Amino acid sequence: MNNTTLTTSALVELDKQHFTHPWTVFDVYQQQGALPIAEAKGCYITDSNGKRYLDAVGGLWCTNIGLGRTEMADAIAEQCRQMAFANPFVDMTNIPATQLAAKLAELAPGDLNHTIFTCGGSTAVDSSYRLIQYYQNCRGKHDKKHIISRNNSYHGSTYLSMSIGGKAGDHPVEFDFISDFIHHISCPNFYRAAAGMSEAEYLQQLLDELEQKILTIGPDKVAAFYAEPIFGAGGVIVPPAGYHQATWAICKKYDVLYVSDEVVTSFGRLGHWFASWDVFGIKPDIITTAKGITSGYQPLGACIYSDRIHQVISEPGHGRCFAHGFTYSGHPVACAAALKNIEIIEREQLLQRVLDIGPYFQQQMKTLQDLPIVGQVRGQQLMVCVENVRDKVSKSLFDEELDIGKRIADHAEDLGLIVRPIVHLNVMSPPLTITKDEVDFIVRTLRQ
Ligand code: PLP
Repeated sequence: MNNTTLTTSALVELDKQHFTHPWTVFDVYQQQGALPIAEAKGCYITDSNGKRYLDAVGGLWCTNIGLGRTEMADAIAEQCRQMAFANPFVDMTNIPATQLAAKLAELAPGDLNHTIFTCGGSTAVDSSYRLIQYYQNCRGKHDKKHIISRNNSYHGSTYLSMSIGGKAGDHPVEFDFISDFIHHISCPNFYRAAAGMSEAEYLQQLLDELEQKILTIGPDKVAAFYAEPIFGAGGVIVPPAGYHQATWAICKKYDVLYVSDEVVTSFGRLGHWFASWDVFGIKPDIITTAKGITSGYQPLGACIYSDRIHQVISEPGHGRCFAHGFTYSGHPVACAAALKNIEIIEREQLLQRVLDIGPYFQQQMKTLQDLPIVGQVRGQQLMVCVENVRDKVSKSLFDEELDIGKRIADHAEDLGLIVRPIVHLNVMSPPLTITKDEVDFIVRTLRQ
């Protein structure tokens, strides 16, 4: 079956019958169906009826260099022709994977010189925890297995990564989650802090909570703290200034590994390869990444970890084997796509471009704060969230049945703009190539 032989309505029907999409609200989906997208170029997508939309979501926080680049297609095709697959187990390697691992060591902060390749962000987070367990066991710290993460965080959709995540909406009663070694603390969202509290007081409260949580569980039992530098799916929450450095210091004090989940914030989204050091001044023990690493041209994730961890797990004389990996670890085609993607970001100086246009995007988006339902517009560089509220003073929310985020997104879609609804929020993360005119279109359309 070829999609050019199908009418759009037949395609929508087939999709309803056979494709179980992520996060489908089945009742709504059965009524509305999905929008079939036929083409994507730069910041734009075109549906199968030929209507064009500006995709301000960047696919799903991932189309960093923009889609439809012939150079990317050529690099992928060339690698496919030459060698579409290579066994990644240790007696063999492939050139793109080796080159990419070396490149990541160059780009990542501190001594993060080692990479476990995965199929996406969730498996990068899963791999990071397997690595942490192995590391702690190799050190003889057999009880040091507990994880602390934050409410409202998103770390993926495997059983483990979803359990580490803390979004209430992703933890419905119909699902079970791992709870015996995963603990959640507050989301650092100053907009929702108690009325009258200063930002400094709020920060101190958050830090006390983390330290207290470590002490309550027991420092000998806490293995790692997981944090996104800026919450993505949780609604682009930027923690109070100093939060990351102070939480990092607490982790170091108690020998707790710091895992920075940069699946969204790396590869230029915040104007740097990685945000941990260049934006927030911390050198984590592990960084997990995916999405922008290939700009969505191929599925790929990476768990990049420190020399310190590597020295322990590979210590000579113990016959140690980190028994973990996937058929597609270091897939040559995905790695070739990542290398070309990085080359393009470097050649077109897209990091600098984000530093130039990001403040304009934020500033223009903030003009929407005068609208009666916009409680807050927040974000940094090319991550932004509009928080819709029923009442700006009390910050109370609309009834969930009203589905305000989706209604806004649907209306924007009619007007040729894609924004992502998350309950009462609308989030955006456009390609790094977005222009001022396109930013103006986003703001104008949302105001409408
Ligand atoms: N971690 C973060 C911070 C994410 O935003 C996501 C996805 O949005 C993931 C992990 C999971 O990545 P993937 O969907 O590629 O498995």
